Amino acid sequence: MIKYEELTWEEIRDIDKDMVVILPVATIEDHGPHLPVNTDGMITRALCEKVAEAMADETVLLPVISYGYSSHHEDFPGSLNISYDVLIRYITDIGKDLAKHNFRRLLIVNGHGSNIAPVEIAHKRVNYETDGKILCASTFYLNGKKGANAIKKVRKSKYPGGLGHACELETSLMLVIRPDLVKMGKAKKDMNYPCDGDLFMDWSDGALSFMPYWSTISKNGVAGNPEVATKEAGEYLLKVAVEELCDRVKVLKRLDYDKYSKRVDHHKK
Ligand SMILES: [Zn+2]
Repeated sequence: MIKYEELTWEEIRDIDKDMVVILPVATIEDHGPHLPVNTDGMITRALCEKVAEAMADETVLLPVISYGYSSHHEDFPGSLNISYDVLIRYITDIGKDLAKHNFRRLLIVNGHGSNIAPVEIAHKRVNYETDGKILCASTFYLNGKKGANAIKKVRKSKYPGGLGHACELETSLMLVIRPDLVKMGKAKKDMNYPCDGDLFMDWSDGALSFMPYWSTISKNGVAGNPEVATKEAGEYLLKVAVEELCDRVKVLKRLDYDKYSKRVDHHKK
């Protein structure tokens, strides 16, 4: 695994710039009474490290951006919120500097639901503010076809609603990644997010997007059912999540750099 933070400037100068740089992004926020506030960061780092291990010749791993957009969690002690516009700017600046150092491909791996919108804007801004010099994409985990099938296979909680936050999925993953930090005796389900037509919360939410203050939809900070989480499910989900992310790295690697980095000006005849 190649970690960016461990390289010298000369090594960075000489490294193959066609490798896919991976930038993990998470948040610090309450994760129920049974999981630590850095749950998203721990999961995202573990996933990205496993991808960087599996694809050591094709990836360079950046340190995690631990803080994220969590305004809706501020009623619970512990959340450290970064304003969405600051987060967008912060990620964009990292991407722009990577382009300055001649890296050509950047994948932002986000592990926190409310970062999805700012991260998507950031990945677009990286593309447009570098004149297309770096091909930048962003993604979440276990949210593609492979992920959905894996979730269907192992979930014990009700659909929709059993998965969301500090839920069966995150708790199962944490039972593998940091079992010493999981207080299973305190894991209690809380499924009070509205479930009505296209409005529901699960690992992939319903088509109607609505995020009120977290304290209005959850008493203990949980959205979902962590009581049924198991280490076995976590091991399987972790394996599939890594495979799914490796597939996405390969797709980004296969994109024709010359084609997508060359703008065509159609203003002139
Ligand atoms: Zn989380």
